[in-house]
Amino acid sequence: MRSSISALLARRIGGFMRGRPARVDWPGGVASFTFDDFPKSALTVGGAILEQHGGRGTYYTAMNFAGTERKLGRMFDVEDVAAADRAGHEIACHTLSHLDCRWAKPADIEREIDDNGRALAAMLGGDNAPASFAYPYGAVSLRARRALGRRFATCRGTGLGLNAGPVDLADLLVIILYDHLYDEAAMRHWIDEAQARNGWVIFYTHDVADRPSEFGCTPAQFEAVVAYAAQRMPVLPVRDVAARIIGGGADQPASRAREDARAAA
Ligand SMILES: [Zn+2]
Repeated sequence: MRSSISALLARRIGGFMRGRPARVDWPGGVASFTFDDFPKSALTVGGAILEQHGGRGTYYTAMNFAGTERKLGRMFDVEDVAAADRAGHEIACHTLSHLDCRWAKPADIEREIDDNGRALAAMLGGDNAPASFAYPYGAVSLRARRALGRRFATCRGTGLGLNAGPVDLADLLVIILYDHLYDEAAMRHWIDEAQARNGWVIFYTHDVADRPSEFGCTPAQFEAVVAYAAQRMPVLPVRDVAARIIGGGADQPASRAREDARAAA
């Protein structure tokens, strides 16, 4: 939720030490919608909107938040994790307790990841280890980036921008979808850019509610962006996009992806 100067510096310096270098070249672009912390409305409202448009989202889940009430409103209940998974959404990792990974010891980060993974596996089955991670608070250090980049296919930060051309899968960039920052023209611009530059635009928010928190957006805002993206490109969980990027096309999740690949061939 906050992006500090040290996180910014780590990103700048990290530019010379990419954790997981890769190349995004998705013909016609691809969009992902991601929710951090997993407020209940992210699934009941945001997830429903995505499904109506044939898309699926990514939920960066910190299991200690299950059943709690926070400034983002009511958080997910444990049943929501399985329900989201059954509906085809991605359940991803956000540490167990929303740990600030910037200052944490690597052993503590590892333990949090393991404990969160165990809690998720208890609900989703043993072979469902999360493929994706988002840094709580967007807090990145070089040490955390290296440690986590080895464990997950992707790690998502809160640095602003489009993922196109050479990227760092250990610090994916986002477009913030918050009510108080909302600018529909800007949102459309990023989707147009993804389309034009064969890029991957990853939107990021928390709750989706008529009166959202300062870290969320309204259903109308969310729907407008999802609809605009879905008319132009596949809307896929982070895991599915990463599988294609890392697998070089071997794991293409959607028929649309295959069509895109054929169109580019
Ligand atoms: Zn978070």
